[in-house]
Amino acid sequence: MFRFLLLFFCLYASWFCSAQNLRIGIAPTKKYLRVKFSNASAPYLVLADTAFIGTLNSTNSLEVIWIEKGKMDLVFGGVRRNGFKNVKVLATNSGQFLELSASIPQVKPRAFEGDFEITPLLDRLLVVNDVDLETYLEGVIESEGGEGQKKEYYKVQAVISRTFALKSKTKHEQEGFNLCNQVHCQAYLHKRNGSSIIDSAVLETKHQVLTGMDGAFAPTFFSANCGGETCDPSFIWNERITGLDPVLDTFCVKTKQARWIKKIDPTDWKTFFVEKYTFPVEDSISYQLLFDAPLNHRKAFFIHPGYGVPMRDIREKFDLKSSFFSVSMEENLVVLKGRGYGHGVGLCQEGAMVMAKKGFDYTQILGYYFPLFNLVIQPELSR
Ligand SMILES: [Zn+2]
Ligand SMILES: [Zn+2]
Repeated sequence: MFRFLLLFFCLYASWFCSAQNLRIGIAPTKKYLRVKFSNASAPYLVLADTAFIGTLNSTNSLEVIWIEKGKMDLVFGGVRRNGFKNVKVLATNSGQFLELSASIPQVKPRAFEGDFEITPLLDRLLVVNDVDLETYLEGVIESEGGEGQKKEYYKVQAVISRTFALKSKTKHEQEGFNLCNQVHCQAYLHKRNGSSIIDSAVLETKHQVLTGMDGAFAPTFFSANCGGETCDPSFIWNERITGLDPVLDTFCVKTKQARWIKKIDPTDWKTFFVEKYTFPVEDSISYQLLFDAPLNHRKAFFIHPGYGVPMRDIREKFDLKSSFFSVSMEENLVVLKGRGYGHGVGLCQEGAMVMAKKGFDYTQILGYYFPLFNLVIQPELSR
């Protein structure tokens, strides 16, 4: 049974009490050379190195141009100023936002709350958004879960995304920020623009996280659709993760991403196995299995571990939606009939959406996918 515990989570209390902000790297792998801040909903202060440059508002804009490592130019109020190492764009009130876009490369405007810091790296600008954790979560939930879902689903996503963020906040420490805003960490494409139900879901789960049996933040992985069976993490990442045992999921199996089909040329299929894994095609039984492999449950290896072909490698090679599929020959083509979308570890988003529509509350949904974790509230932090 899933346990809802009211625990003081002292281990992390000092961090929480001092700050609830995260530094989010905005698309740090993109080579931003020229970015623009505009359409501020309220005044922002622009500081460059030690100088106060001016106030950004709804009628003006700030462009930042990469020159070289440690050097960038600004265009503000029609005036270009040269040679800065660090630029900060600071909000004067909570809840205000501005639009961030880029002209090199072209990136359309997206609204963000919080402060910004821009630094010229070796070959690009690094843009970091310093944002309140709960505001960040609203953006994550909308980016990851879309609109039109039940509040209980959004509450599920709020708890697991909050847990993920706090557990992973050292992930990009070496690069000068906590998390990136891409799928690599969790998608935070913009501030929450749509339904205010998302805000309520974040507020009503404030300070709630999942912990494992050791009391530390739980590994709250999630993917779009598990295909009816969540995946053992060792099948994907080659390591056992305590508390993430596979779960049979009856809720997602009729959703639109539950099944997929992909057809592959038989020569391409065979060549992959022979060249990379020296698959014994000269053996008639092995050869037959290569083109006729049923699959009722998830497995780490294709056909048999003895052949040494991880299902995840086949997924990567043929760009498949999941590593959960059967193989058959139909009309001279290899036909893969697959289930699910994504790695399949942890929470199944589409299954959780169905559960919420059927009337389950968020604690029941979390308990279904994470039966070994505890939902923990941190009362000393909610003052
Ligand atoms: Zn990342
Ligand atoms: Zn599922």
